[in-house]
Amino acid sequence: MLTCREIIDNADHLLDGTTSRRQRLAVKAHLLMCRHCRRYVRQLRALLRAVPFMYGKASDAEVSRVMAHLHSHRTVKH
Ligand SMILES: [Zn+2]
Repeated sequence: MLTCREIIDNADHLLDGTTSRRQRLAVKAHLLMCRHCRRYVRQLRALLRAVPFMYGKASDAEVSRVMAHLHSHRTVKH
């Protein structure tokens, strides 16, 4: 079973599809049981949807600012 930390650390890859099938299943299982991570992944998805061209048009500095913002919310405690 994955920990919340692992989910959060890998969330970027989960959403861009660079994880293995096995890993995605493990994540799915975790999300079924953990509402904290569900909420986190949902927010991350919403953010990525809100800025669909972020990775294409934004500068590296802008991307890192967004990612830094996301990381600052990575304080799941349980
Ligand atoms: Zn969790």
